[in-house]
Amino acid sequence: MQAHAYAAHDHESPLAPFSFERREPGPDDVAIEILFCGVCHSDLHTAKGEWGGTIYPCVPGHEIIGRVIAVGGEVTTFKTGDLVGVGCIVDSCQRCASCHDGLEQFCENGFTGTYNSPEQAGGGNTLGGYSDRIVVRQGFVLRLPEGLDPAAAAPLLCAGITTYSPLRHWKVAPGQHIGVVGLGGLGHMGLKLAKAMGAEVTLFTTSPGKEADARRLGASDVVISTDKAAMAAVAGRFDLILNTVSAPMNLDPYLRALKRDGTMVMVGAPPEPHKSPAIFEMIMRRRSIAGSLIGGIAETQEMLDFCAAHGVASDIEIIPIAAINDAYERMRKNDVKYRFVIDMESLKDVASLAA
Ligand code: NAP
Ligand code: ZN
Repeated sequence: MQAHAYAAHDHESPLAPFSFERREPGPDDVAIEILFCGVCHSDLHTAKGEWGGTIYPCVPGHEIIGRVIAVGGEVTTFKTGDLVGVGCIVDSCQRCASCHDGLEQFCENGFTGTYNSPEQAGGGNTLGGYSDRIVVRQGFVLRLPEGLDPAAAAPLLCAGITTYSPLRHWKVAPGQHIGVVGLGGLGHMGLKLAKAMGAEVTLFTTSPGKEADARRLGASDVVISTDKAAMAAVAGRFDLILNTVSAPMNLDPYLRALKRDGTMVMVGAPPEPHKSPAIFEMIMRRRSIAGSLIGGIAETQEMLDFCAAHGVASDIEIIPIAAINDAYERMRKNDVKYRFVIDMESLKDVASLAA
C-alpha cells in the first residue's frame, strides 16, 4: 500500500515529503492509520547520521498512536477501529532467551527497530512513524488504554517506556530519592513516573528557566547542574539517578550524588563518549553506572496501563509535519516543552499538494 511520509535524504538537508510502498498486511499483520507521532531525540540523532549507520532515505518516528484500518486472517487481539500504539520495536527473532523472557529489546539476533533497521525476513530497511500508515505484526502492537489522550500518549511509546523500565528494574519505591538528569522528553516522563511510584524526585538541569515546570511535573527539588556548590550539597543523597542527557558530559558530580550502593542508569545516548568517570567515586561507595534500553512489549503494555491508572501522560506541543525541521532546531537548543508530537492529519495537506 502507498504511504506518504517525511524523510531525511542525507545527513544535512531538511526532512522533506516522500512516498513509498508499505507491505500489504499478511495473516499476522495489523495495518494502522497513524494519527500522532512523537519526536524523540533518537530521531534527530538518526536523521542527521550522528550515530553512524543511517540508511537514506530515512523516515524516523517510533512514538506512534493510530487506528487499526485492516487486520490479517490470523489476528485475534485487534480489530478495525481499535486505537493502538507502536513503539521502537516492530519485530524480533522470537526464539532467543531474551525474546523468551519478554525482553525483545535485547533480542540476541537483533530486534527490528521501527526505523532504520533491517527487516527480519531480510531485504528492506524499516521506515518509521512520520508517515500516514504502517503495517506491524500483531505481537508488537500495543493497546491504548481507555482514558489516555491519544496525542499525549504517543511519547509514552519511547520516552515513557525508556524511563519506566529502569525505574521498575531498580525497584523504585516510596521513600527513595531519585534524581533525573535533563528535562527533555525522557526527563519529564522520568519525573512523572518516579513521582507516581511514590519516590522523592530531584531534577538536575542546565536550564534554570525549567525549574517551575520541573516542580509542576513532580520534582520536589531542582539542582542547577552548572552550580558546583549546589552539586556538592547533594553528595550521597540518591538511591538511583536516571541520566537522560543527549550530549557528552562529566559524570563525576552525579556519581558523588549517589548513596552507598546507588546506581546511575544511563539512558541518554550521546553520539560521542562521556569523559571517563573517576573510578574512586565508584569504589569508595560501591556505586554503579548502568545502562538501559527502552523496554519489552509486555512491559510497554504494563507501562501504558500504569499511566492510564495514574493519570500520567506527556506534556506535548502538537506540530504539523512541515514544522519538523524547526522542531529539531529547538531540540538542539534544549527548547522542548516537553515533547513535540506530529499531528499526522497535517500530512494529508502535504500529500494533496504533492499530488
Ligand atoms: P531531549 O528532549 O532533547 O532532552 C535532552 C535533555 O538533555 C535536554 O533538554 C537538556 O535538559 C539535557 N541536555 C542536552 N544537552 C546537554 C548538555 N550538553 N549537558 C547537559 N545537559 C544537556 O532528548 P530526549 O528525546 O529526551 O532523548 C535524550 C537522549 O536519550 C537522546 O540521546 C536519545 O537518543 C536517548 N534515548 C535513549 C533511549 C534508550 O532506550 N536508552 C530511548 C530514547 C532516547 P536540560 O535543559 O534540563 O539540561
Ligand atoms: Zn525514542
